[in-house]
Amino acid sequence: MEWKGRKQSKNVEDQRGKSGGGLALGGGLGGLGIIIVIIYALLGGNPTDMLNNSSTTQQTTQSSSYEATAEEQEMAEFVSVVLADTEEVWTEVFKENGLTYKEPKLVLFTNSVATACGNATSAIGPFYCPGDQKVYIDLSFYQELKDQFKAPGDFAMAYVVAHEVGHHVQYLLGTSTKVSQKQSQVSKAEANRLSVKLELQADYYAGVFAKHNSQYLDASDFEEAVRAANAIGDDTLQKQAQGYAVPDTFTHGTSAQRVEWLNKGYKYGDLEHGDTFNASGL
Ligand SMILES: [Zn+2]
Repeated sequence: MEWKGRKQSKNVEDQRGKSGGGLALGGGLGGLGIIIVIIYALLGGNPTDMLNNSSTTQQTTQSSSYEATAEEQEMAEFVSVVLADTEEVWTEVFKENGLTYKEPKLVLFTNSVATACGNATSAIGPFYCPGDQKVYIDLSFYQELKDQFKAPGDFAMAYVVAHEVGHHVQYLLGTSTKVSQKQSQVSKAEANRLSVKLELQADYYAGVFAKHNSQYLDASDFEEAVRAANAIGDDTLQKQAQGYAVPDTFTHGTSAQRVEWLNKGYKYGDLEHGDTFNASGL
């Protein structure tokens, strides 16, 4: 992706090097087990890995200034340009639909972070918290994409950012709130199916972003995003982790579905073709 020297977002909050555990939510998390804390992550997986107890993260040593490597700094700048691009795209798409887009913040963190949705560690991967309307990313995920998921390339990372911003779009449109209300009234399997639809729609929105940004993409860029989407399908991740896949437990969709909806967003670039909730076969 062509990005160097392009506009960066004003909405990046750099919290790298700060320990997340002891901040805003410290000590107040006793009720975490009862309060339903919703976050929207890129990856499925075991939810108990997701939100961490403050007592463990509090032990992390505080350091006041974070020394980023040149590579990390470049990735931080890249993510900031991508965020600025999402702001432009979604402001325009919302306007076309008679709506006003409200830009989310993007928090860069290392290891652990305190959010309005609870404390989280990098293990969960990038995520969005509707409680504070912020996207959270530990930039080490770029390396993970490359090494663990075999999905290298800057546009793979752009897809990750755009997927999380897609959850913010869902929040603004009221979709995620409606879905979480519904989820509390249905069986676990049905709640999971609703989660899949929400996640596939976030992939669709990532495709919409790519479509509107295509003037900055070269021939291989979108392929990088597709490779990432393919690598993080529930079936693929479960087979890698345990040797088999259990469809009722899918929360993000299969690799094929994630690729399909990302492609669809890239094809249409609008809101209306992204209705995963009324799509046949889902
Ligand atoms: Zn997601």
